[in-house]
Amino acid sequence: MIAQNLNKVRKNIPNDVLLVAVSKTKPIVFIEEAYNENQLHFGENKALEMKEKASVLAQDIKWHFIGHLQRNKVKYIASSVYLIHSIDSLRLLQEVNKQALKNNRTISCLLQFHIAKETTKFGFSLDEAILMLKEKSFLDLKNIKIVGVMGMATFSENEALVISEFEMLKSIFETLKEKAFKTANDFKEISMGMSNDYKLAIAHGATIVRVGSSIFGSRK
Ligand SMILES: *Cc1c(COP(=O)(O)O)cnc(C)c1O
Repeated sequence: MIAQNLNKVRKNIPNDVLLVAVSKTKPIVFIEEAYNENQLHFGENKALEMKEKASVLAQDIKWHFIGHLQRNKVKYIASSVYLIHSIDSLRLLQEVNKQALKNNRTISCLLQFHIAKETTKFGFSLDEAILMLKEKSFLDLKNIKIVGVMGMATFSENEALVISEFEMLKSIFETLKEKAFKTANDFKEISMGMSNDYKLAIAHGATIVRVGSSIFGSRK
């Protein structure tokens, strides 16, 4: 079933868009089934769960951290994570830098933006991000690399609303590219779109989509 679901989702995703299969809460065997279909990118939202899964699964898996990340949990994922989607403060970024340094590596990160109507979703505003990107304490961080932006649209049937939020994230990306990353070729990712809205997200500029339940089934 997972293989079938995965290949169905893949049919909707162009080659230049990366599919992250969101495996949070799902058992190892589910991930192995997707891996056997050549799926290498998986998303998790709990640090210890990612750490445990990374320790038993294939080493060539690329682990994406997509949930709210507490600073005291960064140490659990610093050696295994491929991309952190959910950077929402300078203090978090400083901790990621510290743990990356300890692991003798650079960790790629996305800045998360608050684009949804719901107040529970984390993230920067454009102004906050621009301020941070100019601060010396940000510029001093040598073991992190900002490679783009991430956002979650409002969970809603209202397509016009969801589209306007995706367009907002695209425009935030373009503003940051112009103001802070003009010569940074690595700054190119827009992570947006989940099971219920990834097709819309792709139509509006997503370069990474994060799809869970359409592949692995609904969660409790
Ligand atoms: C759970 C989650 C997803 C995947 O959601 P589905 O609706 O199951 O596709 C994507 N992004 C984030 C940040 C999530 O927490």
